[in-house]
Amino acid sequence: MGLRDRRRAGPEQEAGHSCAVELRGVRRQYGRGAGAVHALRGIDLTLPHGSFTAVMGPSGSGKSTLLQCAAGLDRPTGGTVRVGGTDLTRMRESRLTTLRRERLGFVFQAFNLLPSLTAEQNVALPMRLAGQRADPRRTAEALARVGLGGHAGRRPGRLSGGQQQRVAIARALVTDPDVLFADEPTGALDAGSAGEVLGLLRRVVDGLGTTVVIVTHDPVAASWADRVLFLADGALADSLERPSPEQVAARMAALGGHPVAGLSPVPPVPS
Ligand code: ADP
Repeated sequence: MGLRDRRRAGPEQEAGHSCAVELRGVRRQYGRGAGAVHALRGIDLTLPHGSFTAVMGPSGSGKSTLLQCAAGLDRPTGGTVRVGGTDLTRMRESRLTTLRRERLGFVFQAFNLLPSLTAEQNVALPMRLAGQRADPRRTAEALARVGLGGHAGRRPGRLSGGQQQRVAIARALVTDPDVLFADEPTGALDAGSAGEVLGLLRRVVDGLGTTVVIVTHDPVAASWADRVLFLADGALADSLERPSPEQVAARMAALGGHPVAGLSPVPPVPS
């Protein structure tokens, strides 16, 4: 039985729970009264195990807040978030931290690697933070998985942006998480490096069975996902299954998102 299967069989989890992430009526409000901002207005969402989801929407529509709430990095002001059947919303902070370390992975636009550590040492960090001995075999496996087995001793400053993001993905995968969350993982990359990172995320879903959720503003990036969710003003406005970049761009334009350079104009897709 693999690590992930053992975790799924854990006592806190509801028997037979079949989805990786479940949001029910999730609301997130900043501030109170007349000046309150309703970043999420009641999100209902189910993400199956081993699925790849992209979240899109205009700036300020609530994408990052949704990701942060789903990943237990922010607490909703209403509703429930479950990961593998475990309710995060009423969990004490210390248990939530442990759950995040053991079962979730995170990747950010800015890579967030420690510049003074080698690729290998960066990838080993989650094991060290969990109080474990850094296992060199697992570190090497994670780096090999992202195609950087030969760069273990390099510091981030000597790696390209795409390579740094792949190290960040190796670091997120070293604990064998159930769900990998990525906020604009290709936002700082050129098209070629972005394609490598997205192909890697696709293989993580298809090969390892990890559930992947990304926020992106790029229709090409979103088209690597199984499902694209569109947020507008804190609510789920639409979704597309396995869309082409052109279909994603057309739906974004219909929601008032910015037109995307590099994609030829396409007629609106009837809804
Ligand atoms: P997106 O990722 O789609 O750009 P965000 O989730 O970052 O949207 O933000 C959604 C809304 O919540 C925006 O109106 C934003 O200004 C507001 N918001 C986000 N974080 C905070 C915060 N810490 N304090 C107050 N308002 C916030």
